[in-house]
Amino acid sequence: MAPSQQVQDVESQLVEEAPEHCPGPQSELAGKQDACQGCANQEICSTQIPKGPDPDLPQIYTRMQGIRHKILVLSGKGGVGKSTFTSMLSWAIAADEELEVGAMDLDICGPSLPRMLGASSNETVHQSNAGWSPVYVADNLGVMSIGFMLPDDETAVIWRGAKKTGLIKSFLRDVDWGALDYLVVDTPPGTSDEHLSVTSLMKEVGIDGALIVTTPQEVALLDVRKEIDFCRKAGIKILGVVENMSGFVCPGCKGVSQIFKATTGGGAKLCEELAIRFLGSVPLDPRIGQCCDAGESFFDRYADSPAAGAILDVVDSLRDEVEGVADGGGSENGLDVDGLRIED
Ligand code: SF4
Repeated sequence: MAPSQQVQDVESQLVEEAPEHCPGPQSELAGKQDACQGCANQEICSTQIPKGPDPDLPQIYTRMQGIRHKILVLSGKGGVGKSTFTSMLSWAIAADEELEVGAMDLDICGPSLPRMLGASSNETVHQSNAGWSPVYVADNLGVMSIGFMLPDDETAVIWRGAKKTGLIKSFLRDVDWGALDYLVVDTPPGTSDEHLSVTSLMKEVGIDGALIVTTPQEVALLDVRKEIDFCRKAGIKILGVVENMSGFVCPGCKGVSQIFKATTGGGAKLCEELAIRFLGSVPLDPRIGQCCDAGESFFDRYADSPAAGAILDVVDSLRDEVEGVADGGGSENGLDVDGLRIED
């Protein structure tokens, strides 16, 4: 059964639309969370809707089998340049012409990868018997995003939790990536329901791990600590932390000044404290934003810039980390998202 059909079947059993922070009627937490208190569906969700392993998992697993390395890009909060960094990471990995790369935009409420990677906003997703075809922005770089399914760039996605989860599952199950060396996944920020859905489903099908993006200020690092705690509890291997917007490079004189000065030691100190790999710092360069707006590769246009060098250093460290470890769920503590013990 298609995921959208399955979501409709569950939704048809509810007596009213699921509220905003609904954990999902099929979730083990259904009927028990704060959002469920006072919800008219509480009894139905607690007693009548079947729970257990997600029935779409085997198909998602099969779909992802041809992908050698899967990396989640996470951030504790919005505004740290997660999507920008995801686009840079995708361009940088795809600069190796021997690699096939996919970029999946699962940030449902703010899909920006298509524009950043140079896909036309008028692009429509083609569907075949094999599934939805990604849009190719280079010979070896494909992108898939909810943005391709919106009528225009200005349409807001105002959906409840269960519907968002259904779409995320459709993306994971129905996109025909074919054989890839790398799939880079831009996830919704924070620890929202969508974030939990993406991370738990991807972890179940086997990922290399998560790359966490932060900025140097303590206000961002505080949220990163929560994200790290979440990953550890969820059994998601942390590949490393990248500090974005770390200093400003003047495009004229190439001098570097600190705009968002680290007051508590920044990402490097945090990694040292928490025994996590620090993958590097990427300076703020206004030309990165210009390239993202124009959908151009920053590396093609400004290959000699300090920011391009810094990002390529991060990618080298990341590839060392990923290609030097075995594929798999990367569970650090052997626990899955719901606290259930998983088999190694
Ligand atoms: S899981 Fe069920 S009871 Fe809880 S918020 Fe969602 S619809 Fe309501």
